[in-house]
Amino acid sequence: MADNMQRSIRLLQDPLKFMRIRADCNRMHTFGRVRHGGTRVHQGWDLEAKVNTPIYAVSDGTIDYASSVDAGDYGKQIRLKFYYGPKTYYAFYAHLSHVSVKQGDEVKQGDEIGRTGKTGNASNLAASEEHLHFEIRTEPTPGLGLGGRVDPATMFAGRAPCSPRYEQGGALGAKQEAVINF
Ligand SMILES: [Zn+2]
Repeated sequence: MADNMQRSIRLLQDPLKFMRIRADCNRMHTFGRVRHGGTRVHQGWDLEAKVNTPIYAVSDGTIDYASSVDAGDYGKQIRLKFYYGPKTYYAFYAHLSHVSVKQGDEVKQGDEIGRTGKTGNASNLAASEEHLHFEIRTEPTPGLGLGGRVDPATMFAGRAPCSPRYEQGGALGAKQEAVINF
């Protein structure tokens, strides 16, 4: 039997200990054409997180970019380059209050790399709206729209942060193995 491109790979670690889409799992805070009646996109997940909540490396990898400057829409931010099966991806964490890593750092899956916050265009949000903006990218600096990004749900082996399983305890993917078809 020829190689059917099945490989055993380590699933991703959740970026937060408690994973839930903000605003009571409102679909507009998931990935896709989910805003303004489908005319505008959201490029990742907005996950509930009080300011100063630890964030974790979703995989072993290299810090591709890190900024402790509160500027632009994303504010303080971290981009982690990692391999998933045969491909390179970038996990992107935005609106942070604290960045614990610098460009070029090697990290291990599950390492704490910073803390959530309200920087960038999240600065005026109410306490009830505090969140982590989290993306999975296929290129480091994609433009507007959905190009250069994938739905995080596809990278977390079908787990979604509004499912009952998540509410029972987070971090289900850590240190598990799975067979994924590429
Ligand atoms: Zn967002």
